[in-house]
Amino acid sequence: MAPSLQYLAWVPVTAIIAASPAVDAPWIVMKFGGTSVASLPCWENILELMESRRREGARVLVVVSALTGTTDALRQLSKCTDRDERVAAVAAIARRHRELLGSMQLEEPAELATLLADLARLAEAGWAEHDARAYQAQVQAHGELLSSTLGAAFLNRRGLRTRWLDAREYLGATVLPNQNARTRMLSATVAVKPDPALAARVAALGEAFITQGFIARDPQGRTVLLGRGGSDTSAACFGALLGAQRVEIWTDVAGMFTANPRQVPGARLLQRLDYEEAQEIASTGAKVLHPHCLQPLREPRVPLLIKDTNRPELEGTVIGPEVRAHAPSVKAISARKGITLVSMESVGMWQQVGFLADVFAHFKTHGLSVDLIGSAETNVTVSLDPTENLLDSDAIAALAADLAKVCRVKVIAPCAAITLVGRGIRSLLHTLSAVLAEFGHLRVHLISQSSNNLNLTFVVDEDVVDTLLPRLHDLLIAAGSLRTDDNALFGPSWQSLYGAGPHGADGEAMAAPAWWQGPARGRLLALGEAATPRYVYHLPTVLERARALQALRAVDRWHYAVKANTHPAILGALAAAGFAFECVSPGESRAVDAAVPATAPLLFTPNFAARADYAFALGTRATITLDALHALEHWGELFRDREIILRVDLGRGLGHHEKVRTGGDASKFGLPLEQLPAFLQLAQVHGVRVAGLHAHLGSGILDPGHWGEVYAQLASLAERIGSVSVLNIGGGLGVPAHPGERGLDLGELDRVLGEVKDAYPQYRLWMEPGRYLVADAGVLLARVTQLKAKGGYQYLGLDTGMNSLIRPALYEAWHQIVNLSRLHQPATTLYQVVGPICESGDILGTDRRLPAAQEGDVMLIAQAGAYGKVMASRYNLRDEADEIVIE
Ligand code: ADP
Ligand code: ASP
Ligand code: MG
Repeated sequence: MAPSLQYLAWVPVTAIIAASPAVDAPWIVMKFGGTSVASLPCWENILELMESRRREGARVLVVVSALTGTTDALRQLSKCTDRDERVAAVAAIARRHRELLGSMQLEEPAELATLLADLARLAEAGWAEHDARAYQAQVQAHGELLSSTLGAAFLNRRGLRTRWLDAREYLGATVLPNQNARTRMLSATVAVKPDPALAARVAALGEAFITQGFIARDPQGRTVLLGRGGSDTSAACFGALLGAQRVEIWTDVAGMFTANPRQVPGARLLQRLDYEEAQEIASTGAKVLHPHCLQPLREPRVPLLIKDTNRPELEGTVIGPEVRAHAPSVKAISARKGITLVSMESVGMWQQVGFLADVFAHFKTHGLSVDLIGSAETNVTVSLDPTENLLDSDAIAALAADLAKVCRVKVIAPCAAITLVGRGIRSLLHTLSAVLAEFGHLRVHLISQSSNNLNLTFVVDEDVVDTLLPRLHDLLIAAGSLRTDDNALFGPSWQSLYGAGPHGADGEAMAAPAWWQGPARGRLLALGEAATPRYVYHLPTVLERARALQALRAVDRWHYAVKANTHPAILGALAAAGFAFECVSPGESRAVDAAVPATAPLLFTPNFAARADYAFALGTRATITLDALHALEHWGELFRDREIILRVDLGRGLGHHEKVRTGGDASKFGLPLEQLPAFLQLAQVHGVRVAGLHAHLGSGILDPGHWGEVYAQLASLAERIGSVSVLNIGGGLGVPAHPGERGLDLGELDRVLGEVKDAYPQYRLWMEPGRYLVADAGVLLARVTQLKAKGGYQYLGLDTGMNSLIRPALYEAWHQIVNLSRLHQPATTLYQVVGPICESGDILGTDRRLPAAQEGDVMLIAQAGAYGKVMASRYNLRDEADEIVIE
């Protein structure tokens, strides 16, 4: 929401300025980007914001960009060879500024008229061959000169006495030894240090100032530019010069996000960053900050804030020297397009003294700066970044021609560099397997891991980036590499802040709060205070999931895989809801029999079970699934004239962890397809009818396409077998664990399955989920036993651990953990949450930011309804958790 407007009428300046700031009042530098200065409401916000900073007792310097689109128009104009076109372009720019003035009900200030006349003259005249770049700089500088002049007129008219400064008088560009003529003029570098004398001189001139971003002067006094997006850097330079209390970058988004939010709506706000990480994110493609803008602020330790001009109430990002203890995490994923790779091949290169020196000399001669480097025995590949280089085809061809004298050259373009940024990225590599697998499907031209341990970059073909980025962002969250649970670092998603707003109503439904966050909390607390460890199951959640699955039209019969949770109340409720059941042992079969009516259909799907187990199951109403030759080879008589289902191995596995993948040679499940003829022959010998085919590739799968593929593969196999009438495509429906992780799209699953069904309507489709139905419905309650600080770690001990919930130790599963006794207290301490079992692996959660805990607090481990109690043990001879069901 825009801030309320206090100044609806023109008021005299004295009415607004309550008191003049003290002589030594701090400076606040505020930079407003192109979209933040383009309309009257924007300027009303700017006035309001300047006023609020002045109420803090600060002097304010506002740095502005050109009105959005103006720099682009001026840039085009400054290269256009047609005089008439140039003149027409100036007329359009003049019109735009005059319209804005008109909406402000302002007369045209003389200074603005002068600037427009000056620009018109430049357009008429064009440029001489030798000064094309100086001309470009001069023309483009007019964008910021115009916007700042217009802004000064508006602010003064509204009663805030604001002094216009020419940025070129304060910011002098430094000429660096290796800079080429282009960067010297159009992407210049300004080196500044705090200058108290200068700050005092400016302070003597007034209390509120406005100046231009993007421009500076060179040693000859000519106007130079700081590169596209360079106004941020101007603001930072002023912040450093004036020794400002802070620099505020006001833009069209509430801060730096974990990815470009226009590309990845689920990107999370980064609430705090240190200079180095922010720098890395900016340099690797996040346009929200100009890559050069942090350097000037680092040494004087001036903090930088990023805020949304239209939503000033949103917290934004704070960038500063502070590094708070936090879990190692990927902070952002960014992408740069327009990258050119130059691959240079030379036999026995490393033996040739000076080969690299020769090669790189050519890059220097052509004024091209190299970004990433990869090398092998006979090859060096480097990348050229378009923000640092003028990468037209002539420049590249000229370079390639010269390089061809010393090696074989291949130019690969257009490419994109995708970068994961996070301090200590090397310590996160083990979490990145899903991300690496994604890159495995693509042509990756170069991988580079920076020596500062802050980034990991993959260079791929440019066209894959737009679809790849959102997917990688999801994978990073799901893998726990991007620690969205640490709410001291990661704020809300862009979607949740803007989703329903004017920025695009993508409006994906946010995950509803878990049942235990609602009114049930009081009851849970009482249950936890009465006895722990204790599992609590919420039946309405089980039934809600059951109904959601039953709404899928393509599936003919749902089975609950009871191994996930065999509590009789859950079995009974699912039977009443119309579910069938899948058991893997006589014990499970008996548990089901005891809890559900004898009419509920049963599947018996064991693995490496003994003959006696099958003999038992054949005496029940269950349909039996076989997944090896052994049973028919050795106990064929047992199955004579029976109908069975055959579980096949489709040769690949899937899932959230290696230990839950149930396909492929390395997994013990399923009959390999090459043994199918032998199996069918044995079946025939014993009069066994193969009435169904089954496959189950793993658990925790969130890609609906997977089941479509399995379904289609089974259907085509079934056609070859003939006797099959049922296809059971298993379970494995994923349940997201991390905050912000996207769930399984059931609608899409139904659509995918429906497509296969249309092609194979003769087969009935069965599925058998377990975890999906019960995971979220259960929580484990435990109490805090002891707290311990050790080295940099804070340990929080619970009265149960891997004996009650083994998933974290077994699969590195991530379960949300909260302090139920302090649910609404701020999470301030980073804990390692451990149990009482004598095993180093007895850890329920690492690096969890939680409220400072005390002995006796009731803690809740979420999503423990599946594979919790059923996998519990009496290890260390500790008592097992009891189970409570709430209706
Ligand atoms: P201004 O004109 O205010 O300088 P910019 O367009 O230069 O604004 O920068 C803001 C834009 O940066 C956002 O609207 C967004 O599209 C883009 N952007 C790219 N990456 C990120 C990121 N990681 N976080 C936030 N914004 C980003
Ligand atoms: N106006 C310049 C540009 O569009 C500088 C800036 O806005 O930061 O690149
Ligand atoms: Mg910008």
